[in-house]
Amino acid sequence: MVASPAGTPRVAIVGGGIGGLAAAAFLHRAGLPSTVYEQAPQLTEVGAGLVLAPNAARLLRRLGVLDRLHEHAVPLDVGWEFRRWEDGRVLSAENLADACERLYGEHTYTVHRADLLTAIASAVPPDALQLGKRCTDLTVNGDIARLAFADGTRAEADVVIGADGVHSTIRGAITEPTPATYSGICAFRALVPADRGPSFARRRAQTLWIGPDHHLVHYPIAGETVINLVAFAPAGEYTTESWSATATVEEFLAEFAGWDPRLQELIRGAGTPGRWALLDREPLRHWSQGPITLLGDAAHPMFPFFAQGAAQSIEDAAVLARCLADDVHAPERALRRFESLRIERTTRLQDVSHARAHLNHLPDGPEQRARDASLAHADPLVDNGWIYAHDAEAEAAATPV
Ligand SMILES: Cc1cc2nc3c(=O)[nH]c(=O)nc-3n(C[C@H](O)[C@H](O)[C@H](O)COP(=O)(O)OP(=O)(O)OC[C@H]3O[C@@H](n4cnc5c(N)ncnc54)[C@H](O)[C@@H]3O)c2cc1C
Repeated sequence: MVASPAGTPRVAIVGGGIGGLAAAAFLHRAGLPSTVYEQAPQLTEVGAGLVLAPNAARLLRRLGVLDRLHEHAVPLDVGWEFRRWEDGRVLSAENLADACERLYGEHTYTVHRADLLTAIASAVPPDALQLGKRCTDLTVNGDIARLAFADGTRAEADVVIGADGVHSTIRGAITEPTPATYSGICAFRALVPADRGPSFARRRAQTLWIGPDHHLVHYPIAGETVINLVAFAPAGEYTTESWSATATVEEFLAEFAGWDPRLQELIRGAGTPGRWALLDREPLRHWSQGPITLLGDAAHPMFPFFAQGAAQSIEDAAVLARCLADDVHAPERALRRFESLRIERTTRLQDVSHARAHLNHLPDGPEQRARDASLAHADPLVDNGWIYAHDAEAEAAATPV
């Protein structure tokens, strides 16, 4: 545990993913030390991409992280580009080139997760990170939280932040366990080297092909050297919720049989695809208790259909650091303020992301035609303004302690 200056709380962060490291980085900027306990022996992220929307990009820019991503992040010219499954007809396309910065003062980027994690980690002091520390237990005695780790070691803290993802151990210590339910959807993910991908997939666009029971998204990442591919299909009997589970290219292709042949070509270029089941979880009504709180997927896991899960964990991190810095002598009050600043927005995003599954997967017919007609008139860049315009730090600063 990093020593805290007199009068500041000892902060333990369980989980060194995007949310946990962002929390350590924002705390460090605010002058508050913390210790991140990450179970993996090295910092790792799965080989996949992320969209960084303006609401996350502006926070990372202030942290200096966006500059470090400069060579790797791809600024998108076209945002949500919806295409019809069988022939690639464009149903709607979001022109980001000038509009995104004009409207929101920040661009939309795509990144490789590993590049993002490395960039955020560089804003965290090296002695704040303890690797190979799987937290197995958390108890609270008075104001003091005690953490136990699988390697037999222990730590004490005044504040514990559970940033330990969708299968959070810390969540289990403070809320009734709510079992996840079967969503009926599974995801495939794959990376295609850009020189093996068709030219339409190398554009700086987030392209989303929608069709009966399925949809598929692709965009370039890693300085445009790689195309990130993620697709959603009926899960059948498949219920494994793990980023390390795999499928075969043939299984992936079979899901998209009969779709535009250009997609088949794209999928054929993939290495071993990952495959996992999306499980369904009700939003939590509270996620802070005493000296413990949650952030990111531990607090509000969401379907990835608005590409906002990591962005919300970054917003959480910025707001939590601000609340703790404003209230160093009353950390429990700071955690309650953090939750009250965040819960409405993250619950709304959980809800809208959930509803998207139905819309994206409509079978051909009257409802699909009505959807396509409304897509033609929609402007997601403006319609999603409540997501992109939000400045989480400014909101926290404007809210009294
Ligand atoms: C297909 C897909 C596409 C997505 N696309 C986007 C996108 O475009 N944009 C976006 O913003 N979001 C996207 N998301 C969501 C995003 O991936 C997650 O919301 C984000 O990674 C959550 O970060 P986190 O730090 O909260 O959790 P995680 O990334 O899960 O990190 C948790 C960390 O905690 C560690 N840990 C777990 N248990 C313990 C323990 N007991 N002790 C110690 N350490 C522990 C883990 O090893 C891990 O490092 C997508 C998600 C999916 C599934």
